[in-house]
Amino acid sequence: MISPTEIPVDATRTEQRLAALLRQAPLEFARVVYGINDRAAGRHHSMAAEDVALAERLHGMTVTRERAEQRARGYLPVAGHEHCPRCWVFSGTKTLLSFHDSEDGTVETAKCRNCGAEYASVSV
Ligand SMILES: [Zn+2]
Repeated sequence: MISPTEIPVDATRTEQRLAALLRQAPLEFARVVYGINDRAAGRHHSMAAEDVALAERLHGMTVTRERAEQRARGYLPVAGHEHCPRCWVFSGTKTLLSFHDSEDGTVETAKCRNCGAEYASVSV
């Protein structure tokens, strides 16, 4: 174990980013399941159902529970090249996230230009 005082600030931020994004992968899988269930029940305009529909439109393939689950388990963001958990889980696409500090500087947000997902990545 390295004591926290030996880790440079940027390394800490990077690790927080990766940990925050890793926590999103199972949530995105849950969103896929909600979306598929909503559509099966005729609720085509729930947020989750529209996310599934958007992923299918963007990538031209059906979003399935099985593939989404496999991808959620296999989601592994790389420091400096973090890719969007939603794009990955929904469609297996690697879209790089961009990071922005909030105006008051308390939170860093990760944004995806492809699907529009936003994640609070670091509490600064
Ligand atoms: Zn995305």
